[in-house]
Amino acid sequence: MKTKLGLLYGGKSAEHKVSLQTALAVIKALDLEKFEIHPIYINIEGQWIKGPQLTGPIETVKELEFSAGTSLSPVSLAPTLFQASKEEAPLEVIFPLLHGPNGEDGTVQGLLELMNLPYVGNGVLASAAGMDKVIMKNIFAQAGLAQVKYVSFIKSEWEKAKEEACFKVESELGYPCFVKPANLGSSVGISKCRNRAELEEAVVEAFQFDRKIIIEEGVIAREIEVGLLGNDEPECSIAGEIVPKKDFYDYKAKYEDGDTALIIPADITEEEYQQIKEMAIRAFKALDCSGLVRADFFLTKDGRVLINEVNTMPGFTPFSMFPLLWKHSGVEYPQLIERLVQLAKERHAEKQ
Ligand code: ATP
Ligand code: MG
Ligand code: MG
Ligand code: MG
Repeated sequence: MKTKLGLLYGGKSAEHKVSLQTALAVIKALDLEKFEIHPIYINIEGQWIKGPQLTGPIETVKELEFSAGTSLSPVSLAPTLFQASKEEAPLEVIFPLLHGPNGEDGTVQGLLELMNLPYVGNGVLASAAGMDKVIMKNIFAQAGLAQVKYVSFIKSEWEKAKEEACFKVESELGYPCFVKPANLGSSVGISKCRNRAELEEAVVEAFQFDRKIIIEEGVIAREIEVGLLGNDEPECSIAGEIVPKKDFYDYKAKYEDGDTALIIPADITEEEYQQIKEMAIRAFKALDCSGLVRADFFLTKDGRVLINEVNTMPGFTPFSMFPLLWKHSGVEYPQLIERLVQLAKERHAEKQ
């Protein structure tokens, strides 16, 4: 029996395009002997458009950007969306290939919970907590995980008392610091600031993406990442290192220039790897994650390991760090997808 797999991709998010690339790659990798593929495209306006079942090869993302067909609001019409067809049984597993707000943040996961459908990856709580860098770091602090110093502001707070806010950043963190929207990914809206003028500019920029921002102490460090796969007892991949050719690993370096080196395995000591692995698993458990997570670390010059973040739906093209880490750990891309679908079924079965 084939698994009826619903692929959710696109999304009303700054990471829309990345999601389309991922969907294309996943479709190419899926074994049509094992899976029936049912695409559901979320356009940039947030409309959900159900495409026809895919029976042949797809070559370009254009073919996945449906405009005709039924355009639905997910809330009122979810039952229709997740049925394979009117006469048929509903989809068996949903793979949300979505990044950022309205996808990776627990909202879609909540809808799928209410539909009682198994879905790949993290649940509502882990997704929501992992999307908000302030909440995430507060939970990490509570779990005793070492990390950079940070402060956070909501827009109205910042605007009411800019001078005090800048002073707080300068006295608690100093320069350079990193300003980030609290809820985003792919480095969208992130700036490195070396002085007051840059700080003020960066804050305006970050508030364009979110009403809440986080500002972190900037560290000079190597960037090491690991992938976790599993539910209650996740396995940890080997480690990889990111070496940005630019000042930092910004959006352009990630998706446009393609000249950032990913070094796998990372050249770190066994001791460093063990510490990163232990911290990654502790972070996974602290956020109550399931399915998959990519955990990002800083390895400072003086040998400290700091957790930067976890990503509950990490970049997932075959050239992204998470799939590459697993490939080098012995799990090829098609197997990785199958494993994730299996983990989704297991997690769902446990809840029943
Ligand atoms: P993604 O989800 O794609 O990994 P993101 O948008 O969640 O990215 P971060 O990983 O927090 O953003 O930051 C992006 C990059 O900015 C990091 O990979 C690193 O190069 C740099 N960076 C972020 N925070 C700091 C910091 N506190 N000190 C030094 N460099 C940093
Ligand atoms: Mg992130
Ligand atoms: Mg992200
Ligand atoms: Mg990151």
